[in-house]
Amino acid sequence: MSRYWSNLAQRLSPYVPGEQPKDRKFIKLNTNENPYPPSPKALDAIQKAVNGDLRLYPDPSCTLLREAAAKRWGIKPEQVFAGNGSDEILAFAFAAFFDRTPVLFPDITYSFYPVYAELWDIPYETPLLNKDFSINPDDYKRNSGGVIIPNPNAPTGRALSIDALREIAGAQEKNKRVLVVDEAYIAFADEGGTGAGTGFGALIPYINDHPNLLVIRTLSKDAAFAGLRAGYAAGSEELIEGLVRVKDSFNSYTMGSLALAASSAAVLDVSYYENINRRICLTRNRVTEELRSLGFDVVPSQANFVFASPPEKAHNGIAMTAAALFGILREQGILVRHFKKPRIDRYLRISIGTDEEMDAFLSVCKKAITENNA
Ligand code: PMP
Repeated sequence: MSRYWSNLAQRLSPYVPGEQPKDRKFIKLNTNENPYPPSPKALDAIQKAVNGDLRLYPDPSCTLLREAAAKRWGIKPEQVFAGNGSDEILAFAFAAFFDRTPVLFPDITYSFYPVYAELWDIPYETPLLNKDFSINPDDYKRNSGGVIIPNPNAPTGRALSIDALREIAGAQEKNKRVLVVDEAYIAFADEGGTGAGTGFGALIPYINDHPNLLVIRTLSKDAAFAGLRAGYAAGSEELIEGLVRVKDSFNSYTMGSLALAASSAAVLDVSYYENINRRICLTRNRVTEELRSLGFDVVPSQANFVFASPPEKAHNGIAMTAAALFGILREQGILVRHFKKPRIDRYLRISIGTDEEMDAFLSVCKKAITENNA
């Protein structure tokens, strides 16, 4: 605490992002980055933008990305908001749509949501996930100040169906409240977890049916552009206008020219990304099976990570805790994420890397578990 801090700065408890170590080379399976490179067309677009005029301010309306996303989804550019990563858009959405009535989000979910709620002084309630970490959609149909749900949820990887989310949107519409669906990982979802990586479940095609539905997408995961900082949101024009009002009261130029050029090319390079993301889904399914055969409990994932708990009881009765395995992996140069929180502290969240990276991860797990069993 510092005496120079405002009351606001004093009461904040900021989000802690996953490590980005610089001192040593790790296999990074801790922040759900894509292991494959971004679209060559998008990298070309950056080069062209570098040769363009960076002396000038970027387009404050982010037209390039809004038009690209509109084309990709068959909607109007006026139904798209673009921002400097989806975290920024989420922060704006909390300010634009939520007020003094408690907002609903799951007890186990993206841990930035309570941070935004506290930043803007918005009360919230957190319905409990079911024991298997699934969301009970009925919990989000009651009167509320609005709802925010990641689909698939993080860090569990479980997804809700299109119908379930549309029913929540319908129920919240009765009181003119907004449903925000954070689709950071939807490109890795597919019906039945076949590894098709079709992005089945994406809600943008339904925004015209639900004036209170805002869908937020990031380019950090499926578009392999976490370092670029780009994201967008799709919804009715009145929702988009609400976001623009907040943005223009904060920073006119949230996206730089390089990010605009690259992200608009990336959004339209659908076939390149379907190909790399299908590979990630196949690797995910293989890792799930191999961890299960080692005795891990693995939550069925529709995302580019798995949420897994090491076997609770080893032969000799000594349990391998998630915290211990996290330490062993780190020592061996592999970073995963461990959340020291009630209900999930027995689990690790493991991002899906290349097949070679996952083989290295699996072999450390196998050794740790079998040595523990000896
Ligand atoms: N939503 C969820 C559920 C996430 O896990 C993340 C990544 N930490 C984000 C949003 C933010 O993504 P970005 O700001 O990189 O677009």
